[in-house]
Amino acid sequence: MTAGAGAAPAEQTWLIAANVVRWRRYGEGGQELRPGTKSCRGGSKVYVIGTYPGVAHEQLTTIGRGRHTGTYITIDMSLRNLHTFRAVPVHSPAVLRLYEEAGLGGCRTNRQDTEEFAAFLGRLSVEYRTTWWAAPHPVPCRCHECLTLSSV
Ligand SMILES: [Zn+2]
Repeated sequence: MTAGAGAAPAEQTWLIAANVVRWRRYGEGGQELRPGTKSCRGGSKVYVIGTYPGVAHEQLTTIGRGRHTGTYITIDMSLRNLHTFRAVPVHSPAVLRLYEEAGLGGCRTNRQDTEEFAAFLGRLSVEYRTTWWAAPHPVPCRCHECLTLSSV
């Protein structure tokens, strides 16, 4: 039952949240380890707002807190550097504003579609992490897969 005129501006939208890996493989053959990514601290949360078509979702557009400023910014991110994809309702005006400015939204606004795409990206991120580097992991290794295995 709705009364009144006009639609209210969006105050909530469903987005995919994910966390930045604590450590990523880096350098020749992925034999070095770097904490987090250039733009984001390891473990910090980002919201996935778009994918680049044609490159199998390897690069994503995300909104996250910048490593140095701590304020929300739009950041390009490699799928393999993210984990634990899940659908979340987003209320933050700062995030919603950047999301609208990016102009990438509109196709997935309900929970179920967002959850399905989150699960898909989760599987794909594991695949990219395990196939991205041809060389074996450095020893010892702290990349996301190795940390996950060692904590089981
Ligand atoms: Zn590893």
